[in-house]
Amino acid sequence: MEDCLFCKIIKGDIPCDKVYEDDKVLSFKDINPEAPVHVLTVPKKHISSTNDLKAEDEELVGYIYTVMVKIAKQLGISEKGYRIISNCGEDGGQTVSHIHFHLLGGKKLD
Ligand code: AMP
Ligand code: ZN
Repeated sequence: MEDCLFCKIIKGDIPCDKVYEDDKVLSFKDINPEAPVHVLTVPKKHISSTNDLKAEDEELVGYIYTVMVKIAKQLGISEKGYRIISNCGEDGGQTVSHIHFHLLGGKKLD
């Protein structure tokens, strides 16, 4: 996926403010944060959106959630709460066509 922004970040061609990385996922701070904590988690495998998830990705999505819950704990927002969002398509407000999950917290969210 040569033109995919998040694939370029995963490859290291574009820098990011990394929060967590392993062989399956990368988490980094959103460049335009909407909350004091705004971290994106992406699978290293290119999947365009939730519409493109296959049965074989079920474990991966569950894994992403557990990673994000750990990040929330590490960043100290677990107790007060947070939001995990994945936007899909035009109406969902998706602007980058590589599936990603927003972790938002650190303030009372609208
Ligand atoms: P969405 O609108 O759900 O597709 O989310 C895409 C998110 O990616 C937005 O919140 C952007 O601020 C964020 N974003 C775009 N480019 C970068 C980048 N180079 N590094 C980090 N976050 C980015
Ligand atoms: Zn990609």
